[in-house]
Amino acid sequence: MGVMTAQDETSRVAILTVDDDPGVSRAVARDLRRQYGARYRIVRAESAADGLAALRQLKLRGDLVAVILADYRMPGLTGIEFLEQAMDIYPGARRVLLTAYADTGAAIDAINVVDLDHYLLKPWDPPEEKLYPVVDGLLEAWLASDHRPVPEIKVVGHRWSARSSQVREFLARNQVPYRWYAADEPEGQRLLAAAGADGRALPVVITPDGDPLVEPTDGELAARVGLATVPSADFYDLVVVGGGPAGLGAAVYGASEGLRTVLVERLATGGQAGQSSRIENYLGFPDGVSGAQLTGRARRQAARFGAEVLTTREVTGLEVRGSARRVRFADGTFIDAHTVILATGVSYRRLDVPGVAELTGRGVYYGSALTEAASCLGQDVYVVGGANSAGQAAVYLARHAKSVTILVRGPSLEKSMSYYLIRQIAGIPNITVRTGTEVIAACGDDHLEGLTLQDTATGTTETVDAQWLYLFIGAEPLTDWLADVVVRDPRGFVVAGPDLGPDRPPGWELDRAPYHLETSVPGVFVAGDARSESAKRVASAVGEGALAVMLVHRYLEKR
Ligand SMILES: Cc1cc2nc3c(=O)[nH]c(=O)nc-3n(C[C@H](O)[C@H](O)[C@H](O)COP(=O)(O)OP(=O)(O)OC[C@H]3O[C@@H](n4cnc5c(N)ncnc54)[C@H](O)[C@@H]3O)c2cc1C
Repeated sequence: MGVMTAQDETSRVAILTVDDDPGVSRAVARDLRRQYGARYRIVRAESAADGLAALRQLKLRGDLVAVILADYRMPGLTGIEFLEQAMDIYPGARRVLLTAYADTGAAIDAINVVDLDHYLLKPWDPPEEKLYPVVDGLLEAWLASDHRPVPEIKVVGHRWSARSSQVREFLARNQVPYRWYAADEPEGQRLLAAAGADGRALPVVITPDGDPLVEPTDGELAARVGLATVPSADFYDLVVVGGGPAGLGAAVYGASEGLRTVLVERLATGGQAGQSSRIENYLGFPDGVSGAQLTGRARRQAARFGAEVLTTREVTGLEVRGSARRVRFADGTFIDAHTVILATGVSYRRLDVPGVAELTGRGVYYGSALTEAASCLGQDVYVVGGANSAGQAAVYLARHAKSVTILVRGPSLEKSMSYYLIRQIAGIPNITVRTGTEVIAACGDDHLEGLTLQDTATGTTETVDAQWLYLFIGAEPLTDWLADVVVRDPRGFVVAGPDLGPDRPPGWELDRAPYHLETSVPGVFVAGDARSESAKRVASAVGEGALAVMLVHRYLEKR
């Protein structure tokens, strides 16, 4: 019989039986359990209402239901009405009506009403003859169709909702597997109904335990999908702020060298690199590596060495308290440590033209938002920017989109993009590069519909149809919260080591100069893109994370 044999494959598959007569209900369940209990979960209900509630619960948990047996004569809903509603929840489950001889006429009619698979006359003794062959046949038919279990997190949302898109991006970047359901499609509607949600507040995220979370914040989501958000200790040797390559590098080296290390990330580990579709020039990966893969491994590595990794925690303050350094969060809580490594990188600059802010997350994306890429299938995509990040995204998007147009303000790509990428782009037929062009407006109701482009030389404008706009227009460090604590350059990057100049920084009381990656505050280091004059590369960020840890050791030894 059947194709599934392993216990774990069928253990989340149920057979449900509903009968208002407790004696009959127990007898059916007993007979079913005897024959199928080792491979299927037998669920029993004594009313149609209880039966529907059980089905909703199973649905939310991602369990499957292979067969439903319902008594015909029940108070409240009849068996036929019950099966009709059960179909809304589990359309693929096979349906059996239990009837007395007198009701066989109704049962036969029901074959058409609810697409009944079978009716069984009560009593069915001996089950070996009358019950099991029927259920065997139904299970076989059910198993032959594709009903694989879906134990992961489910996200039900609206395709063009900014928050739905942020939630998907958040889960993807934190490497949490999920399945997406559009709220206006049948399975999405079934899930919403099972969750008791009216679909007005979206997205609804359903945890593997079957709990629906309506419009969860990142913090709630993190806590419910198993990502740590709260530190386990009050004091650490090292707090790393930022979970990009520099921060992950610092956490791996810090923890592996015995420092009590905690890494704090405001959104999802991976940083900019986590959003890169393909990093071609990282040492040791001759065929390139996706940023998510690289940083996902680094995160596992950091955790394996014992570093604590907290997500959805944005650091908003840094204080010097004697020999301790205090890192403060927006909610007033804090972590104290001997040392801090700032690895906050940079964030995308926003395009300040009419329409863009309103449509962000609805067709307009900063960075690659790669989870959305598959939705561009067969459509026209615009990418703004002349640097490598824009080029990589264009190459990636061209696999799905009908056309990709790269809009560059300057006269050519040569100054801003690597040669290998320019050559790669030239060889992809559905990518066009338009130089001397900028976006001056975006329009659309629910979703991006068009762009106004301007020729930078002549000032002439043109409106084009566009459903997707990806912006890569440079980045800036978000370090205003450090303004009164450490020395920053005029663009907000943190100045360290020799770049602080020949004189001791203001307030510096030690009789040595700051170490190479040390900021103007002893024991506070900076690594990666957030550092003034940094290289803006994955390899250098990782390297600086490692070097900063070495300097942390030196600082701790010589205090
Ligand atoms: C699309 C794209 C493609 C790229 N391709 C390449 C490539 O092919 N090769 C290459 O070498 N480089 C590439 N880069 C550049 C490379 O990704 C960066 O140089 C590198 O990620 C910098 O690492 P970082 O850790 O310093 O900073 P980031 O990667 O920017 O990470 C900083 C992290 O800190 C977090 N953070 C910021 N502020 C706070 C706060 N207050 N509290 C808590 N957390 C905070 C952020 O959320 C972020 O996760 C690319 C960049 C992009 C965007």
